[in-house]
Amino acid sequence: MFYTQNTLDRADHIRKDEQALQALWQRSDARIVPVWNNLSLVTKTDSTKPPQALFLVPGDTVPEAQLVFLGLDGKTPYFANDVSALSDTEAVALLELAKDRKGNLRAGEFKDLRQAGPTLSAEDGSLLAYARGLIFWNSNTAFCTRSGHSMASSHGGHVRKCSDASCGYLAFPRTDPAVIMLVTYTAPDGGEPLCLLGRNPAWPEGVYSTLAGFVEPGESLETAVQREVLEEVSVQTKDVRYIASQPWPFPRSIMLGFEAVATTTHIRCDPDEIADAQWFTREQLKTFGNWGDDAEGNKLPRPDSIARFLIDRWITQKA
Ligand SMILES: [Zn+2]
Repeated sequence: MFYTQNTLDRADHIRKDEQALQALWQRSDARIVPVWNNLSLVTKTDSTKPPQALFLVPGDTVPEAQLVFLGLDGKTPYFANDVSALSDTEAVALLELAKDRKGNLRAGEFKDLRQAGPTLSAEDGSLLAYARGLIFWNSNTAFCTRSGHSMASSHGGHVRKCSDASCGYLAFPRTDPAVIMLVTYTAPDGGEPLCLLGRNPAWPEGVYSTLAGFVEPGESLETAVQREVLEEVSVQTKDVRYIASQPWPFPRSIMLGFEAVATTTHIRCDPDEIADAQWFTREQLKTFGNWGDDAEGNKLPRPDSIARFLIDRWITQKA
């Protein structure tokens, strides 16, 4: 599964130790993942080679604000750095310093991870997703939600603390739980097993995917699955079963993947969320194209998504 193969030791004990963090920051082998306006640094697109994550090293001129400790790869420390304060020209100049993991200069560009992600190695994609998610949270937690004072980074960027001593509120990185579910149905008299996929009006033409929605306060994950399916397509479900999860830092979700069995089949779409929904057989899904294809016809969702994982898993299951 994409974005789940982060190989760093997150080394929580170091986050609390300011001296140890400073010592790691001084190491010449430290690697810094820059994030510029939510864009990630990767090698320039070359159709012959898949892109790779690129890095900066201490000593490269970068603003030190929003420095986040990501963890250790063996002894090599990894940091993320929010360089969003740079102008377009300055960001282009920074590209001259881009290096691969070994420290060799490489031609780089800032790119949206949602575009580059599916073509990166699992390790690079996971690292950039982790960096992007933490930088997003830091830059969007500038003020205390309790007292309105400014917040300062602490614990290597994994905690933010209110600057007003009488308040002292601590904020921790947020990740918003969302359920995503493959709903299946097999008629009591047998027949082809079916799965329910829908289309969001904003998606590229022809793309069908699993239904999904955010978990609400006071709700179990299983209840959220049943509520979302009922709200979006008016289908009743039972036997909700957890399958797998995926961090989705676009900007800050975790997708919790389920399967559920439909007890009703009539579809009535909520037009605000679902442009169309249909029941499909495995054979029909095998004829679908891929997200991003120019060809006409129905398409499966993004290859790096848990939606695609759930659909591919079902297609290859024995009936
Ligand atoms: Zn406060």
